[in-house]
Amino acid sequence: MLDHPRPEDKELFVNKTIVESKCPECGSDRVRYYDVVSEGGWWEVVKCQDCLHSLDRNKSSNQYGSLSLLTDLL
Ligand SMILES: [Zn+2]
Repeated sequence: MLDHPRPEDKELFVNKTIVESKCPECGSDRVRYYDVVSEGGWWEVVKCQDCLHSLDRNKSSNQYGSLSLLTDLL
């Protein structure tokens, strides 16, 4: 028996926060804040969803990302 139920979502997704801003590269107002994992670990980014230009990018204080749930149990 599994301690954790199988996710019912059919796809992985990231919760993105709407940022009231315009992209300086393409002028889109579809700017979002979210976490990404990339070279050097986890980053908190503000990116245009149309051209993927980064408006802001800061190293996350949480370098365990989604594994935090696991580390919280240790
Ligand atoms: Zn853009």
